[in-house]
Amino acid sequence: MSLTLATTTPGEPEIFASLQGEGPSAGRPSVFVRLSRCNLACRWCDTAYTWRFIGDPRPHRDDMTFERSENQITLDVREVAMRVLALRPTRLVLTGGEPLLQGPALARLVHELKEAIPALQVEIETNGSVPPPHALSVLVDQFNVSPKLSHSGNAENLALVPDLLRDWAADQKAWFKFVVASEDDLAEVAELQALYRIVPERLFVMPEGTGSAALRERSKWLAQAALTHGWRFSDRLHIHLYGDTRGT
Ligand code: SF4
Repeated sequence: MSLTLATTTPGEPEIFASLQGEGPSAGRPSVFVRLSRCNLACRWCDTAYTWRFIGDPRPHRDDMTFERSENQITLDVREVAMRVLALRPTRLVLTGGEPLLQGPALARLVHELKEAIPALQVEIETNGSVPPPHALSVLVDQFNVSPKLSHSGNAENLALVPDLLRDWAADQKAWFKFVVASEDDLAEVAELQALYRIVPERLFVMPEGTGSAALRERSKWLAQAALTHGWRFSDRLHIHLYGDTRGT
């Protein structure tokens, strides 16, 4: 069984140790595995190298396309597990792209890792539009669910799947994280919160941006909105620390 990962440089899988930069685990030392491919195509995606390969016509604000062979690598699950274990993880973050497109292989990976390190905490970053297989759900400690709003440019029927959003909202392992670019997006967050009865304590709003200056500017009004609605606020710590770079 194999996994298709993103790369830091051609041939080198994007597996790295860093601090979790976003959401409920922000600041925690973690080992990251970045999976390649995504079922969505956000205009402002900061990991377009996981999906926007040459020939993909879906729009992106930077209008860059990537050579698939240089930006993807397929490895046996055991090889991925060995590379993760070499970094001596206490927390694993499976991110992407959309990791749940490879759910069965991730279940195998997490099973192997938890056999080796029973106390390992595992979280998955997902856009919330792909269901996790049961074999994976039972092994995962935390889902960071980031449904995409209309400013992402995705068709609503692809980005927001009502049955899944209801399931995520009822799942005690799931936290919601909405990427917000402008104050116009806030009404949409409030609407989804009400529709799916998302507990405010489990709902993060996070500014969109791939530079510290833009994040700080947007944080000013977003922090106020979080106070008004009782939501939680998430920064993007890794951007402030390392900039918008692979492997961080
Ligand atoms: S869902 Fe995530 S990985 Fe996929 S295009 Fe949107 S931001 Fe990028």
